[in-house]
Amino acid sequence: MTNTPLADLLAYQKETEALAQVAGRLGWDQETVMPRGSAEQRGEEMAAMESVLHARRTDARLGEWLAACEGSELSQADAAKLRHIRRSHDRARKVPAALAAELARVTSVAQGQWAEARAKDDFAAFAPVLSRVVELRQQEAEALAEGGDLYDALANDYEPGATAAELAAMFDEMRPRLVELRGKVLEKPAPKGLGGTFPDEGQMAFATKLALAFGYDLSRGRIDKAVHPFSSGSGNDVRITTRTNPEDPFNCFYSTIHEVGHGSYEQNIDQGYLLTPLGQGVSMGVHESQSRIYENQLGRSRAFTGWIYDQMRAQFGDIGVDNADDFYAAVNRVQKDFIRTEADELQYNLHIMLRFDLERALISGDLKVPDLETAWNERFEADFGYAVPRASLGCLQDVHWSVGLFGYFPTYSLGNVYAGCLAKALRADLPDLDEALAQGDTTPATGWLRDKVQRHGGLYEPKEVITLACGGEAPSAGPLLDYIETKFGDLYDL
Ligand code: ZN
Repeated sequence: MTNTPLADLLAYQKETEALAQVAGRLGWDQETVMPRGSAEQRGEEMAAMESVLHARRTDARLGEWLAACEGSELSQADAAKLRHIRRSHDRARKVPAALAAELARVTSVAQGQWAEARAKDDFAAFAPVLSRVVELRQQEAEALAEGGDLYDALANDYEPGATAAELAAMFDEMRPRLVELRGKVLEKPAPKGLGGTFPDEGQMAFATKLALAFGYDLSRGRIDKAVHPFSSGSGNDVRITTRTNPEDPFNCFYSTIHEVGHGSYEQNIDQGYLLTPLGQGVSMGVHESQSRIYENQLGRSRAFTGWIYDQMRAQFGDIGVDNADDFYAAVNRVQKDFIRTEADELQYNLHIMLRFDLERALISGDLKVPDLETAWNERFEADFGYAVPRASLGCLQDVHWSVGLFGYFPTYSLGNVYAGCLAKALRADLPDLDEALAQGDTTPATGWLRDKVQRHGGLYEPKEVITLACGGEAPSAGPLLDYIETKFGDLYDL
């Protein structure tokens, strides 16, 4: 008896998915516990895994199996699996192997040069290699787009179905409202911040408590420290990292809640999808919607911060604020700053819009890399109202462009927009949500998100799963903007 093409295809894919998980775990190891002297060998190991994965994704048998299955009667899940395999197979075959290898080589050099240039605040030192990265990504986009929009082709790697035109329209709606609100808020006196001491071990213990409060399953995950917090893996091995700063425990706590949002999404996917193309988060935007709604709409809500306030006082003693309202204001403090990753809910999306417009112009060729720093600084001053003093606080602050991530930034804002839509639907379905949050109980909210979004993994397309979760309402920026205006209007007495 021979297998059907579908059974052969899915068995082959299962092995590819398992190997991709192994490759991911090598990356996790590198960022957490790998010995310092192992970096070079690890580079070889990861490159070998990548070449195995590339060969599997371009294997001609995949094309034959896909052709034999497509068009036949399939279950919803099998049809979705085929859609994902087709997308990855086509993508891998469209990009010439020489171009992919050159991109890998140049971006690894560029990342080192970026780190050096940032340390010296010297954009000019980084510009030549960045020009080369842009050139290669343009070539890759041309291969992928087959005559279509170049930026769309790049963005679709991270957010299938997203278009630059749609994103631009969304940002056009958001930008003036956020710039205006930001101006009004910053005219008001700044709330008091935290005081006291927050030792490392105490922060890690508290972070674990928060992770458990949000339903992170430590029997299928773990929490370690890393320079930049991230989440890694899918299914029954999903690990997160966080970091500590003795002066700023919120950095640790909210990074943890953020990564728990990512990690819970992966842990809560239907077990039947394990090691299939449906067994992981469907897009960067939907992923970010889960991390943001955990971190912001739930974690920074007045109700939940009331619980955190009591817990922190019990563990750390005097924390420098005297009541839960002041604590809520401290958690949501809006400050003049330059750095995207430290931005509050109100200013974060302005950072993204700036990057989106500039990277789109770089890919189209309207902006040349040597002019990037000036363009960045002009735009920053227009939206934020003050000048960028040095490149490490401006166009050298993010690693993304050095490693070739063009089309990625907008998924952060898309995640915020999706989180706004989900929070509106969730609150409509759960009128008593705040009573539970005030007790530190997130289960009504996290259960809702698991049921409406997380368990589906890759079954639906990104926009589709958000639309279904929101009772048929297509995602838009309105709910997020209303939420931000109400929240910060109340906080700052506007
Ligand atoms: Zn994230």
